[in-house]
Amino acid sequence: MIEILDLHKSFGPLEVLKGIDLRLEHGKVLVIIGPSGSGKTTLLRCFNLLETPDQGSLVLADVKMDFTAARKIPQKSILALRKKTGMVFQSYNLFPHMTALGNVMEGQVTVQKRSKAEARKRALELLSKVGLADKAESYPHQLSGGQQQRVAIARAMAVEPEVLLFDEPTSALDPELVGEVLKVIKALATEGMTMIIVTHEMKFAADVADTIILMDEGRILEQGTPQEVLEQPKSARARQFLNRLS
Ligand code: ADP
Repeated sequence: MIEILDLHKSFGPLEVLKGIDLRLEHGKVLVIIGPSGSGKTTLLRCFNLLETPDQGSLVLADVKMDFTAARKIPQKSILALRKKTGMVFQSYNLFPHMTALGNVMEGQVTVQKRSKAEARKRALELLSKVGLADKAESYPHQLSGGQQQRVAIARAMAVEPEVLLFDEPTSALDPELVGEVLKVIKALATEGMTMIIVTHEMKFAADVADTIILMDEGRILEQGTPQEVLEQPKSARARQFLNRLS
């Protein structure tokens, strides 16, 4: 249900993605690992067009796109794709002037045109799901980093995306707050939410992923099950990267 073929992206003279191919079935979890600067975040951001690829194609549910550097993607197509994706950023990016409840209601009212009552009901359900029913009226600055990130996950889920995209969701957190966020993501995986996750948490990656890709210098170096990629990597470079972590 998600497929990209021959995806390329450059920033000026720097080619950051050098031909990426991958497929992800509905309900599966893809984890992207690799050294810093290998293109993980750029690849993730291509899935909702926060970065526009220069070449290649993307299929996400019923949205299909072909990219060429010469052609601008129409705004309508960008919005169609964004409606299918929910993004969770490293730094939470909550609206600071809105409560947790307001944050989770916002997209439902503006993008999905739900009534406020309906949006509120769903927001409360989602806050409860991420363990924050009692924080609905709190503002972001009154919440810990782990709590803010859980609100961000509820917000991303609220618009019922086909896929959730996570960009290093725990790397801004104090170590003692990492577990509570990973637990929420793991629960979503168990429920069959389709997710693409960039992370440095290898134990978590092994636990949650159906497929792991290991990127290096803009290419996929290894791709397979957690066991294949983490325990039996084929390339010397992958072994080198994984050894540095352990
Ligand atoms: P990773 O997530 O694996 O650390 P990134 O996708 O963030 O890698 O970055 C890959 C490369 O692209 C890096 O060299 C980075 O400096 C560069 N890069 C990322 N975003 C931009 C940008 N907006 N403009 C210019 N260079 C960028």
